[in-house]
Amino acid sequence: MKDVSATPFRLGWEEWVGLPALGLPALKAKVDTGARTSALHAFDIEPFGPVNAPKVRFAIHPVPGRHDLTIPCSARIVDRREVISSNGEMEYRYVIRSEIEIGPRRWPVEITLTDRGAMAYRMLIGRQALAEGVTVSPTESFLQPERGYEVYSSAAMKTQAPPRTLRIAVLSREGGAYSTRRLVAEGEARGHVVEVLDTTRCYLAINALEPAVHYDGQRLPRFDAVVPRIGVSVTAYGAAVLRQFEAAGTFVVNPSDGILASRDKLMAHQVLARHRVPMPVTAIASSPKDTDNLIGLVGQAPLVVKLLESTQGKGVVLAETRKAAQSVISAFRGLKADFLVQQFVKEAGGEDIRALVIGGRIAAAMRRVAAPGEFRSNLHQGGRAEPVKLTRAEREVALRAARAFRLGLAGVDMLRSAEGPKVLEVNSSPGFEGVEAASNRNVAAILFEEIERRVRPAPARRLKD
Ligand code: ADP
Repeated sequence: MKDVSATPFRLGWEEWVGLPALGLPALKAKVDTGARTSALHAFDIEPFGPVNAPKVRFAIHPVPGRHDLTIPCSARIVDRREVISSNGEMEYRYVIRSEIEIGPRRWPVEITLTDRGAMAYRMLIGRQALAEGVTVSPTESFLQPERGYEVYSSAAMKTQAPPRTLRIAVLSREGGAYSTRRLVAEGEARGHVVEVLDTTRCYLAINALEPAVHYDGQRLPRFDAVVPRIGVSVTAYGAAVLRQFEAAGTFVVNPSDGILASRDKLMAHQVLARHRVPMPVTAIASSPKDTDNLIGLVGQAPLVVKLLESTQGKGVVLAETRKAAQSVISAFRGLKADFLVQQFVKEAGGEDIRALVIGGRIAAAMRRVAAPGEFRSNLHQGGRAEPVKLTRAEREVALRAARAFRLGLAGVDMLRSAEGPKVLEVNSSPGFEGVEAASNRNVAAILFEEIERRVRPAPARRLKD
């Protein structure tokens, strides 16, 4: 920074200015020595974050008349102050501090935030912001170089927008779970505000104009991103909550339809097949008359029979012989439980591979090895996690499987079969603990990089008029 008091620096009564830390490289400002404080005309001004380090976020249309161009900003609150506005009214305003750029100079100023409708100048520069050596000529305009509005083109914003504090919700019923704790810790370490919302405590106002989510007697604010970690027991309701966020235009890491399709084992197998993702031969039937034909479709025993409701390997049975398969199937039918029959991939040898896909890339992977005498490698069945290097085919299959459900975060479980990788399942709420430990990767950080990439800089939002 240059010493602003060294040489005289002249300003006209209107000047082009930049507030680079807020992502506002060009604004037309009015220099008003009659006013003490500087002001930024913003809207949707909303405090957030922890009480000991409060922040404020707001939006601004930097280009007068261009209501389709909205820049979301956030900053630390340095004060809250009474300000008498130009029309003589007293308002309480949040005060932030940011560097201002005019011509070749740059210095920190205090700025109050006010929402007073469409003012011709988005920024007002008051006396306080005029450093020593700055003189104002009230009869001249634009004595300092112009900054064009083309800096707001989406290409320019992609490369130049500064990091912005994001407000992120984690939808989870388990605030204490490892993955949730990691998301909160990592998000906060990156300067974001991460709030954990119990999915089942969210309630919804369903209407066309203003889809809202309420919580604990209050309407939830707009979040920049939602990370759904929806448990199997609340899939349908969790998806409804998520749809509400989607309807409000919030970026969701995993969309509700992808979560629903991947959770429904029957649909998931069909979706994977349609996307040419290799799977073990799988068959299902509804009528008991078709049991033998069903077994015939899959091939010889041994076979795997799986309850569709199964998680953590609890409803997965290995039937060593055809007779055993028939008895398991008839037992499941007796319980009116839905199931599928699958070819047993013996050569997997009680091991499966989990690839964690984040934003269309492999973020981490692990190999799960079943306990002795067990063919299921789930960690809940005593399996252990180990590091693994994925083959090229495994990487491709995992990416394709995640893409089939449009999941931004997916755990893809595969078996290493003689014919290459075969996908068993795509999990939309994969745990971080085993895979972070086995791969030595910071999965939570990789997820935030993806969220930041998708949400910052925010694309121009179209206003609904
Ligand atoms: P769940 O959703 O209950 O975890 P999975 O389909 O993932 O059920 O199966 C649990 C475990 O059982 C897998 O991780 C894998 O180790 C083993 N397994 C499942 N299907 C097969 C199969 N067709 N062949 C060999 N092993 C299998």
